[in-house]
Amino acid sequence: MLKERAATRHALKLELPDVPFDDELLEHLATVDTEAKDALEAWLPFLISHSVASDEESASEVFRRLAARLQSLARQSEDFGARSSSPRPSQPSRPEASTATEQGAPPIPGLEDWLETLSLSAYLPKARAWCSKVGVATLQQVMEKWEELATELQLKELPKRRMRKAVEAWRPSNSVLVSAAACDRDDRTSADQIARASAERRLFGPDDDPYVVLDKLGGGGQGTVHRCWRPKHKGEEFAVKKIALQKQFRLQRDADRTKEKLKAEANILFSLRHSHIVQLFDVVETKEWLYLVMELVEGGELFDHIVKHKYKHLSEHEARYVFLQLADALRYIHSKGVVHRDLKPENILVDRKASRNGLLEVKITDFGYAKLVDDGYSTALTQVGTPQYWAPEVSDAGVCARGYDERVDLWSLGVVLYVMLEGVYPFSSEEQIKQASFKFHQPTTATAKDLIRALIQVRPEDRLGLDDCLKHSWVTTDTRLASTLKPSGPEGDIECFNLGREPSNVVELKSELQKFMTKFKVSAQLKKRQVEVTWSKNVDREATQR
Ligand code: AMP
Repeated sequence: MLKERAATRHALKLELPDVPFDDELLEHLATVDTEAKDALEAWLPFLISHSVASDEESASEVFRRLAARLQSLARQSEDFGARSSSPRPSQPSRPEASTATEQGAPPIPGLEDWLETLSLSAYLPKARAWCSKVGVATLQQVMEKWEELATELQLKELPKRRMRKAVEAWRPSNSVLVSAAACDRDDRTSADQIARASAERRLFGPDDDPYVVLDKLGGGGQGTVHRCWRPKHKGEEFAVKKIALQKQFRLQRDADRTKEKLKAEANILFSLRHSHIVQLFDVVETKEWLYLVMELVEGGELFDHIVKHKYKHLSEHEARYVFLQLADALRYIHSKGVVHRDLKPENILVDRKASRNGLLEVKITDFGYAKLVDDGYSTALTQVGTPQYWAPEVSDAGVCARGYDERVDLWSLGVVLYVMLEGVYPFSSEEQIKQASFKFHQPTTATAKDLIRALIQVRPEDRLGLDDCLKHSWVTTDTRLASTLKPSGPEGDIECFNLGREPSNVVELKSELQKFMTKFKVSAQLKKRQVEVTWSKNVDREATQR
């Protein structure tokens, strides 16, 4: 029971870090089979009476998230061969909360399984009823209209994201915009293309040289990512992250804060140029949207390559090549005073075209949580990133409040290497993270284990530095691999401006620098008593002086 309670507490804390779960609640929850039909009913009163949720609707949503988390935890313990031997208590059956129409709706082949893989089984009756109402008869048709279904089911952001990802995995490109893109290419002149895109409200950027939005590539917490291109630039394609600035915020203050945070991300990215980091090319801001135009990396997330691999994990040779690229990229960003803080296989994109002989070329993306800590004034203090990949100094609120540094990325790098070689996440409880306690299950070599253990160390000062990682015998065992690494991208021209003395108002100076960076699309970093500007080739330096 204690073990189950600890596992439940861990799962709940990951999902709802701010909610204090007392023992009574945990004891109760540990006995509830989340997959049972009446689980939701069993949880509801507790969630509401313990102020986890304020009403039935939000409690249902919280339950779905927790159930998904607990189920994935259960799957993980199965992966670790640590399945609890105690049988789950059987649950009293709950009358199905569905209407007569829902009950009478005909089954759609594959729908039940699909919803189950999304941890959305509770929605089956409603989904069937919707299918019969709108005349959808196959799973393929369901997927094509998934957004309508999500609206009908009133899915919140997380389950909706799961559904969207499942549809994207099933259908590599999406229909409407893909066909629009095909039409664009059929049009011979850029004027035709722009006119068509304008009529379809797929334009952004300067009137005389706009970008055209094409098919959707993915979506994250911040917004959707689309392919895009500039008709006047003949064929070159980019990825654009399109972020709604107003809609999702009830308060203007929140919108402003988020806008500043996003711009800060953009400014960090502008300053980074490396073959294994997704490059940011442009930022376009309108009243409603922020568009981050990036290098297009086609090949999906590393995460998907691991789970779809024939062995469900990478070989050591394959993992070594990815590791080399990640260590090199991290070494580069740390040298710029930037900490990524959310390194995980989902934030590592595979460049299919550049990958050769089964070796994956990768690029780190999503600098949404990155922080510049080397300006002489800042320390990272906030709990950001993905809890499962947090280093112990980030997950421990007390230590976190005292600050942490770039060595959090070393921990995550170790976890990513583990996931690549083992195909599962190393920890199944917060306790294990605190003690850096994990086991190997695959026939991983002793040198690989040694490198992983050297990175996944509780004390940041005990973690192996990136230079030493690149000299580790597991990495150097294949000398040819290192030589096939692409050199870092062309650096901009760096110029340092001495301030002469400490700035009197650091916050104001940083805000001025942000405006300067956004306006001229250059990187400018405060480094104690000087400002370091990285000029890219296409910047008119004289214009910045005016
Ligand atoms: P993000 O919001 O950064 O987590 O991105 C969400 C998804 O969009 C990723 O998982 C990718 O599938 C896709 N994506 C993000 N950035 C790019 C890019 N530069 N090129 C291609 N696809 C991308």
